[in-house]
Amino acid sequence: MLPSIFISHGSPMLPLTDSPARDFMSGLGAAIEVAHGRPRAILVASAHWETGTPMVNSVARNQTIYDFRGFPKALYDLSYPAPGDPALAERVSDLLCAAGLPSGIDHARGLDHGAWNPLLLAWPKADIPVVQVSVQSHLGPAHHLQLGQALAPLRDEGVLVLGSGSWTHDLRRFRGQAIDAPESPDVAAFSEWMDTALAEGRRCDLLTYRHKAPFAEQQHPTEEHLLPLYVAMGAGGPRARRLHSSASYGILRMDAYAFE
Ligand code: ZN
Repeated sequence: MLPSIFISHGSPMLPLTDSPARDFMSGLGAAIEVAHGRPRAILVASAHWETGTPMVNSVARNQTIYDFRGFPKALYDLSYPAPGDPALAERVSDLLCAAGLPSGIDHARGLDHGAWNPLLLAWPKADIPVVQVSVQSHLGPAHHLQLGQALAPLRDEGVLVLGSGSWTHDLRRFRGQAIDAPESPDVAAFSEWMDTALAEGRRCDLLTYRHKAPFAEQQHPTEEHLLPLYVAMGAGGPRARRLHSSASYGILRMDAYAFE
């Protein structure tokens, strides 16, 4: 059975900027295939698709969405034309409905950069079908845990459930600092609290992280970049294993976890 995975996608420049996180993402596809076999499809819950109620995309082939502005042309030259998977989209929609989370189907939307940016590194051939499911930022962690739990059967069907967000995401403090700038102590404090809570299986503390974790509201002024964690947590097995940890620009932790 496949694990579910949470990854931090970082800046849209991730594929073009040398960093420990890029190295990690570049090896993730091969590592998963060695340990668990090749996924037949990937379902991504990305922070960059926010809707009022759950939505699933169903297309023959995914367009690459350039949902960012002001980056170098080289970034817009990249594309990730992975096939879609309408049958999987329908299966996802059925699973969500059975769990009391009725969803809509979007027949036009492709992949936002929260999905294609890391997948370009992990599976550069873009030959595994990809489907996205949206997040509902106003509904918080418990809703996304429930959403993930509804998707758990997919792991037994060869589908990799991938939550793509950011372990910390206070972009208000981005001032053009270098990617290897020293990590802010509050970023480290929040990250280690979350890591310990995951390692100890303190699910209720994680669901109420905003009230309990140090500097939580500072790291996540809005929640959408952390919510994919709860989708992965809900879909996955009980054991959380940290796959990667690094900081970029001093403020963005790039941590990744497997739930197995
Ligand atoms: Zn993002």
